[in-house]
Amino acid sequence: MEQNFTLGDVQVSMTPEERFDEYLQSKGMRNTQQRRNLMDIVYSRHEHFDADTLIEQLPRKGDSGYVSRPTVYRTLAEFVDAGLLRKFELDGRAVYEHDYGYPQHDHLHCTVCDELFEFQSDELLELRRNVAQKHRFRVTSHRLIISGVCERCSRTPRRKRRKQDLI
Ligand SMILES: [Zn+2]
Ligand SMILES: [Zn+2]
Repeated sequence: MEQNFTLGDVQVSMTPEERFDEYLQSKGMRNTQQRRNLMDIVYSRHEHFDADTLIEQLPRKGDSGYVSRPTVYRTLAEFVDAGLLRKFELDGRAVYEHDYGYPQHDHLHCTVCDELFEFQSDELLELRRNVAQKHRFRVTSHRLIISGVCERCSRTPRRKRRKQDLI
């Protein structure tokens, strides 16, 4: 399972920008250039990221596209609140990924190279349905992260792979 992000997109009626504008309006807030800059970067590709990685990729102060650190944290929280991003905990850090326009899926986490692999499973959803029914529980979401060692890292057990080696 070496390929990642092969799930494709879900049809949505609004662009992320439109949806975020609607969210801001509902909160009585205005979109700002810094928020737009961050939206552009976050939606330029699909990947799992944490706030620090994102900040490293941002233009420096004084350059166009700059977003201050507090704005990054605040805006990421807004993106989550607006349903654009999903946030989950991984080894004590917050990881973000696209939610709006991206299908429900779960993750395998390689503890050697730190890579996240995505998968979808109908059996898992069936199990979720059955368990919820048994407990008269109304499901809103679930999160499953399977930890272990990926195929690539299993093949080279002696040398610890770093994330950079995989790019
Ligand atoms: Zn690995
Ligand atoms: Zn994912």
